[in-house]
Amino acid sequence: MSMVKFEKIKRPEKIGLPFMLDFYPLQDEKNTRISQFFKSLKEGHLTTTKCKECGKVLWPPRIMCPECLSESLEWVDLGVEGELYAFTEIRLGAPLGFVEDVPFCVGIVKIGSLLISARIDDAKYEDLKIGDKVNLKIVELPDSRVFYRFSKDKEQ
Ligand SMILES: [Zn+2]
Repeated sequence: MSMVKFEKIKRPEKIGLPFMLDFYPLQDEKNTRISQFFKSLKEGHLTTTKCKECGKVLWPPRIMCPECLSESLEWVDLGVEGELYAFTEIRLGAPLGFVEDVPFCVGIVKIGSLLISARIDDAKYEDLKIGDKVNLKIVELPDSRVFYRFSKDKEQ
């Protein structure tokens, strides 16, 4: 089983991001009912919610099932490996806070029945192909918020 990669990242301070344009959500219990998702990420686990009533695995994690409206959900672990389903390279028009990273790759990663959009790190566009195995990568901001990305499996 592959190891989850952790990396400290920075967000430019000089932008003075307006709260609504901050890409990274507030993650504590006071600010979100899916704080467990971020707690698990800090421990190296990508998780989501599954409906206990209809069995649907939901992405992104929810507080209510959009299929059957049940609020009876449980957390499930998605593992740390996925498959690149689609990808592209961002060359301009990056969101605030990402401008200095251009060019970078983003993609859709298939894990089980889920399609998860995320940044694809540590690979150039030319080095990626559909079907590539990618591993969970967790990035941490200076204020200790975390977020998920994926990284190409170097062993391919
Ligand atoms: Zn349901």
